[in-house]
Amino acid sequence: MTEPTIVVLGAGPAGAATAIGLRRLGYHVTVVSDWRRFAAVEGVSQRVLDALRHAGLGNALQEAVTPASRHVRWNGQHLRMNQEFLIDRQRFDQALRRDLARADVTVLEGRIREVAYGQAPWVSLEGGQVLNPGFVVEARGRQAPLSASRLRGPETVSLLNLWQGQPGEPVSAVESLDEGWAWMARLADGRCYWQITQNAEGLPGRALLPAYCARHRQASRLVSELFDAQALAPAQVHARSSTAILAGECVGDGWIRVGDAAMAVDPLSGNGVFQSLSSALQAPVVVNTLLRRPERAELARRFHQQRVEQLFLRFARIGRDFHGQEQDRAGQPFWARRRGWPDDQPLHLAADWRAVRVERRPVLRDGWVDEAEVVVTADQPLGVWHLQGVALAPLVSKLLAGHSLDGVLQGQPLPQQGMLRQWLAGQGYAG
Ligand code: FAD
Repeated sequence: MTEPTIVVLGAGPAGAATAIGLRRLGYHVTVVSDWRRFAAVEGVSQRVLDALRHAGLGNALQEAVTPASRHVRWNGQHLRMNQEFLIDRQRFDQALRRDLARADVTVLEGRIREVAYGQAPWVSLEGGQVLNPGFVVEARGRQAPLSASRLRGPETVSLLNLWQGQPGEPVSAVESLDEGWAWMARLADGRCYWQITQNAEGLPGRALLPAYCARHRQASRLVSELFDAQALAPAQVHARSSTAILAGECVGDGWIRVGDAAMAVDPLSGNGVFQSLSSALQAPVVVNTLLRRPERAELARRFHQQRVEQLFLRFARIGRDFHGQEQDRAGQPFWARRRGWPDDQPLHLAADWRAVRVERRPVLRDGWVDEAEVVVTADQPLGVWHLQGVALAPLVSKLLAGHSLDGVLQGQPLPQQGMLRQWLAGQGYAG
């Protein structure tokens, strides 16, 4: 049987990580992508650096090594918090292309005009070229066409301001404002960046945006502490939607959505690149199962869909809780809407042994999506399969059937017994 060729739409972190993962599994992969059309600086955490390394994106990792000390002015308090790593997105995206070339992935530069799915998918590019892949990975980020938005947060826009200042210590800061919040950064070479995120409605017209943003900077003590006088003048502005969106279906017959195309989170959670890499790192195994073990297609689709949805809700609730910490402005329209979205469920549900059960769920086994018995808890609805190498379901099944804890743990090495007792106590087991 000839292997289908795979076309990945978009060469952001999600598209690049998925393409390299599929290449490692032996597929012929072509990435089709345009370049990002605006400059931006983003902040990422240490775990993004770990995920980049894991995904084989070593050149991109080199672009994310500038640590910046981080200031936070939120709810009337000023804190200096650890650090984040600053990336210049245009240079980062160029490095992703070098990673793709090094992994022997073909990259076609161009703008995708139309994509048709179904029995014989095709992709057409501006300029007339048509590709006929066997499988399509949709990774065009927020620009990917949306079929049915399953879940959409309050309509939000971010205004990105960029100017060249004097070189200095890299720094980043976030501060709450009546209308929303601002994130700002200076790179070592003096490029300065300031971004306000606020409700999409009620914005001034495009021509007035530079002056509108400059007025906010003039009113900010944090801006005057971190930047020189140039920060107070109007700068080049680019407006971007930053509404949190979970795409309805994220995987189907011959296609899968990864990264922001599957779920785009509120930038306040500070986890955009991390979540885009998370969904991309699981995608190659899902695609491999769909293509080479079609009898497990339903399981593979369920695995991807459930994990994307769970990741989205987790980051949406993280964003909600950050908004909720800003109590001084709780009554302002921007804050009032976001402190209650997507729901009022706590980020972590309290332990409840009565809710613990054993169920069959999709898991990743030896590079394939498979099915196994896992332990489902209130806080882990997708289930926990192993804890430090110990399969949990057989042990929990026995406890639920009334066996004694000492009897169930008999035969396990002593350190494992301690770890399991601790985990069970954390789930509310008191027997
Ligand atoms: P993208 O990085 O968007 O990549 C998509 C690629 O597809 C691009 O190369 C694009 O050019 C290409 N493409 C799109 N349409 C077409 C087409 N028709 N034809 C050809 N190519 C196309 N995350 C963080 O971790 N930290 C931050 O500080 C941060 N700040 C953010 C601020 C704002 C205002 C926003 C909106 C997001 C922010 N994010 C941040 C999120 C982060 O940018 C995204 O989560 C991440 O880039 C998503 O990666 P991706 O690969 O899914 O998509």
